[in-house]
Amino acid sequence: MGRYQDHHRASLADRESFWRRESTLIDWQRPFDTVLDYSRPPFARWYVGGHTNICHNALDRHLATRRDQAALIYISTETGRERIYSYGELHAEVNRCAAVLRELGVGPGDRVLIYMPMVPEAAIAMLACTRLGAIHSVVFGGFAPASLATRIDDAQPKVLFTAEGGMRGGRTIAYKPLVDEALDLAQHRLSSVVVVDRGLGTGMRLRPGRDLDYATLRARHERAAVPCAWLESSEPSYILYTSGTTGKPKGVQRDTGGYAVALASSMRSIFCVAPGATMFTTSDVGWVVGHSYIVYGPLINGSTTILYEGLPIRPDPGIWWQIVEKYRVCTMFSSPTAIRVLKKQDDAYLKRHDLSSLRYLFLAGEPLDEPTAHWAADNLGVAIVDNYWQTETGWPILSAQPGVEDAPRKFGSPSFPVYGYDVRLLNATSGEEAGVNEKGVLALEPPLPPGCMSTLWRDDRRFVETYFATFPGRQTYSTFDWALKDDDGYYFVLGRTDDVINVAGHRLGTREIEEAVQAHKGIAEVAVVGVADPIKGQSPVAFAVVRDIASLATAASTAQLREEVLKTVDRELGAIGRPSAVHFVTLLPKTRSGKLLRRSIQAMAEGRDPGDLTTIEDPAALEEIRRVLAAPQG
Ligand code: AMP
Repeated sequence: MGRYQDHHRASLADRESFWRRESTLIDWQRPFDTVLDYSRPPFARWYVGGHTNICHNALDRHLATRRDQAALIYISTETGRERIYSYGELHAEVNRCAAVLRELGVGPGDRVLIYMPMVPEAAIAMLACTRLGAIHSVVFGGFAPASLATRIDDAQPKVLFTAEGGMRGGRTIAYKPLVDEALDLAQHRLSSVVVVDRGLGTGMRLRPGRDLDYATLRARHERAAVPCAWLESSEPSYILYTSGTTGKPKGVQRDTGGYAVALASSMRSIFCVAPGATMFTTSDVGWVVGHSYIVYGPLINGSTTILYEGLPIRPDPGIWWQIVEKYRVCTMFSSPTAIRVLKKQDDAYLKRHDLSSLRYLFLAGEPLDEPTAHWAADNLGVAIVDNYWQTETGWPILSAQPGVEDAPRKFGSPSFPVYGYDVRLLNATSGEEAGVNEKGVLALEPPLPPGCMSTLWRDDRRFVETYFATFPGRQTYSTFDWALKDDDGYYFVLGRTDDVINVAGHRLGTREIEEAVQAHKGIAEVAVVGVADPIKGQSPVAFAVVRDIASLATAASTAQLREEVLKTVDRELGAIGRPSAVHFVTLLPKTRSGKLLRRSIQAMAEGRDPGDLTTIEDPAALEEIRRVLAAPQG
């Protein structure tokens, strides 16, 4: 592991030289004056004074050599559409979209909210924003109107870019009515809503004076050439909201130059995708993996990216392997949940395809269990690379780095710290470093490397107070994950330190789900916990105290209330937050000081011992939890 260690050591011992070298992977319109300005800890500014543009690096600079090479391959197994955009074509589309946004008054620093299904226009709109120097905020299409409204109010976009609807498993989900409802709920008034009509026949209505049809606008700019806005490196490229322990989502703010360099560098050193080669990332553009490794990373690197709309098992469970074969994918990036779903299918689907082009399967977003990793390794015959990171960091924190050195991997471990990250395992109470094989909080000694969040959108204080105030006596970034390091230096991630749960690789705050449940007027109080799930990793389970016990008088009224609660969550947060079970109770287990005993509830829901209960206010509450868990849910 000598080469890996030297590389990592060099990245921390002499940050300036290391990141100066990596900076040459992108184009700069004006060279930077300073590699790193860390005069105001914990805020790090990378490549100060340098001017660049992400869209230029993702498209324009490749035109001379890759105009006809595939840039983006769009495959929808929902609509049966498949289209290959060459670099030249994607560049032209992005210019048209940028011209549309410019016509609507969007310029540098303006926000554009993108609420889109997995269609090429999602990536095109993102690139059009970065071209203009506008700040996009992509909100995952599964979020409900109330969640969308919160994000609209925080980001205050000038334009909202959406589509008439999405499709999932053959079902059409109309987006436009959700957007209308969100805009009615939001305080902020934006000037235009641009709608992509996909021909799904959702019967969408455009509100005069606000809503505009994208195809009509686009037709006016067929030959558009919109210059790239050169931004100072630290200027924001995007905001991406993520869940935390409070109900209010955090707007992770990303810079421009540092992000582009980190992505370019990771494409080579971690993901081993050569320019011209094809990467298939199965995430959604609404998540950080989609931002970094469906859209920006592969394009900045001059590679081909695949944007897939559909399920991994439709029309049959061989569809992803068919794509790998057809487009000679060399690196695939997916989630453990997706692989667990595929593991349950007949292996014959996999064996049917020629996977000789595939070299790596990267998996992230949630813990990768050993049986799943083994299954994938045995059946695909490629390297399975567990990598650990967060929305906040934008690219991997822990990962094998085969582009640096092909070190052996251990199942169950995302290997080692990635270059640039000064990873520590700290004792949460003392702030001291944990010993070998000792559990500690996974922390990052600042400055955070390029690509990581620069702050929270318009909330520097929350940035410092949320992430840098965990450990006594030191201003170290907390990931809020437990981890340990074994004798050989391999890290093992052991779960969250806070009340955040991970459902199918998506981070959700239990507090957010609780607020959504409580939006039902029949619910007085609720506790939501994450319970181990064989496919999704975890699933949310709710224990709700009803206001009026009479609502539970009959099995039918109980079932109706349960149904209403689930619908409320769908409306407030979106189906991704929907509890897999809702249990009604008359009281919740709390300490004498009124703190909810979540860990005990969670343990009981997983059939484990509830642990130390000496502080419990009323033991009857636990008895009730035990009783409802044992009873079948109607
Ligand atoms: P998100 O910001 O939504 O990507 O969620 C990040 C969180 O997902 C991390 O803080 C971890 O709790 C979890 N996570 C991500 N990748 C891994 C991994 N490879 N192993 C274990 N947990 C992971």
